[in-house]
Amino acid sequence: MSELKVTESNLEKVDEVIRISGQNIYSCYQCGKCTSGCPSAGLMDIVPSQAMKFLQLGEVEKVSESNTPWVCLSCFICSVRCPKGIDIAAIMEALRLMKLRTNFDYVHPNKIQEEEREILPPIAFVSAFRKMTP
Ligand code: SF4
Ligand code: SF4
Repeated sequence: MSELKVTESNLEKVDEVIRISGQNIYSCYQCGKCTSGCPSAGLMDIVPSQAMKFLQLGEVEKVSESNTPWVCLSCFICSVRCPKGIDIAAIMEALRLMKLRTNFDYVHPNKIQEEEREILPPIAFVSAFRKMTP
């Protein structure tokens, strides 16, 4: 098992997540209600309640390098279900923003296959570009 190291840089990243999202990640007590209602949990590398735990432990990179913030649909079910009033969707948004601000594209317009361009509705592209490109 890898050793957990809470470094200064880890803490700065946690502070940034808190500042951008406006949420107190430390009030999560791991009840799992967010994960049990999440329609995307089955597709996520790290489910929402696990993501909260990693963030509390300073492991922001682990969550932001996973597909979790990108697979999140921003449906707010987790935020509505959380008994601690944590807006987990806002935390996912903060994680996306932090990556996008490094000029990272999760969806790159030039990498979309021609067959996909032919079958997907234009609104899907507009939505993906707004959320997943800098
Ligand atoms: S907002 Fe994202 S993380 Fe929350 S329930 Fe919806 S898909 Fe899951
Ligand atoms: S529902 Fe809220 S308190 Fe429960 S695990 Fe999710 S974030 Fe933590």
